[in-house]
Amino acid sequence: MTMLDNGAARVRFAPSPTGHLHLGGLRTALFDWLWARKTGGKFILRIEDTDRKRYEPESVASLMRGLAWLGLNWDEGPDVGGPHAPYVQSERQKVYKDHAQDLIDRGRAYRCYCSPERLETMRQEQRRQRIRTGYDRRCRDLSADEKAAREAEGQPWVVRFAVPEDGVTVFTDLLRGEVQVDNRQLQDEVILKADGLPTYHLAAMVDDHLMQITHVLRGEEWLATAPLHRLIVDAFGWDMPVLVHLPVILDPSGKGKMSKRKKTVAGKEYLALVHEFQDAGYLPDAMFNFLTNVGWNYDPVEEVFSREEAIERFQLEEINPSAAALPYEKLDWLNSLYIRALKPEALKSALIPFLSRQLALPEAELAGDLRLDILVPVIQERIKRLDEAADWLDWAFQDAEEIDYNEPKLLIGRKMDAGGSIEMLQAGASLLKSVEPFAAEPIQRAFRERADELEVKAGSFFGPIRGAISGKKVSPPLFESIEALGREETLRRIGRAKLALERLEAEEG
Ligand code: GLU
Repeated sequence: MTMLDNGAARVRFAPSPTGHLHLGGLRTALFDWLWARKTGGKFILRIEDTDRKRYEPESVASLMRGLAWLGLNWDEGPDVGGPHAPYVQSERQKVYKDHAQDLIDRGRAYRCYCSPERLETMRQEQRRQRIRTGYDRRCRDLSADEKAAREAEGQPWVVRFAVPEDGVTVFTDLLRGEVQVDNRQLQDEVILKADGLPTYHLAAMVDDHLMQITHVLRGEEWLATAPLHRLIVDAFGWDMPVLVHLPVILDPSGKGKMSKRKKTVAGKEYLALVHEFQDAGYLPDAMFNFLTNVGWNYDPVEEVFSREEAIERFQLEEINPSAAALPYEKLDWLNSLYIRALKPEALKSALIPFLSRQLALPEAELAGDLRLDILVPVIQERIKRLDEAADWLDWAFQDAEEIDYNEPKLLIGRKMDAGGSIEMLQAGASLLKSVEPFAAEPIQRAFRERADELEVKAGSFFGPIRGAISGKKVSPPLFESIEALGREETLRRIGRAKLALERLEAEEG
């Protein structure tokens, strides 16, 4: 295969606004963007909204948010305009009508008056006879009189493309090479519907031509209709853009095609929609790295790279045409790396909207909260997603009364009983009353010394204290947690925990 000429490309991402963007769509847009940036070309956003039955108005904004989140800025599009505006197909109706008429005038398309009822009867009959279903071309060769009669009756019509009855159509896919298809396999597809709007086959070909698109990256599901597209482009006498059919992304089971629904495999729920990944706290840079390596490979070894490095190396020819399932674990791993690489203040800012939502606290209050300044750096290495922070930090924002000490195991030190654990809480409390300054380091030192004096293992000493302040078995590092909570609140919690253990002792005693 010859290397592509890397001249300035014009590529478009052309989603249909029929719901939220899923990761497969975002990957297509990412490859478009990489190619545009690599070649110093243009990345164009075009909204293909001619299927009014499936149209969902909110999805345009949602698509744009998803692209912007990943940093895929577009040079031409509905909001930013451009030399080929409008970039929304429903606003270009006349363009398609004129082009459909042009094909009729060239004898390459025709008005079809067949009613939906007739088409249904025809299909049933074809099934009964076990022959291939498809339009029987009844209107293709109507005489002038027959046409005039139907028009006079005001019969509704669609426009169909007249596929050659024999011969072969050849097109080239950059990843698969030359593909030949027998024209007898092809149908006279509808290109303009009764509502006056085009189908994808006409609209996309016309727009790709008028918008001077050089490379079409689209889902593999369009391979089957690519011969028809080739015929339409030829009928107009235009050149075909370079076609790159991108491999399907499989769901985590590796069996089905990824859909817009969440998928549960072996009890684990996998996300599919871009805004779900956003809400779960994946960082755009991690997602960028991850998706760039889905179907293409930056490097056999290096997994982490910058946008500039990706742009530099990206090559369309290197895209792997076989379907692949998303390696979700890798995304988590990458995300944790990117979280670790953030400056603590940046991580704090990124976490605030999550904590605000999950802990029901105002963002402004969290922004000024000193507890976060102490605790964010110590959970930084412990979270894979931003939405995991709330679980690590919720105890710090609760009142002492809200901490649940009903699970006594939480407060009992390793190899200890309730009595021994009460002693540990007391020892801790007396120490915390006097330690100065009240900061993680001195607190830690005092605790370790005391553990030696008492001849108890650090773990046995610290366990009850951890349970007392957090109400949890697993929580962020103890001494930072104590510092964050402050002397008074820590002592209050230890006091309550002690009471709980005393009650337990009395009940058991
Ligand atoms: N509107 C089509 C889709 O969403 C676009 C396919 C293409 O990129 O040509 O599948």
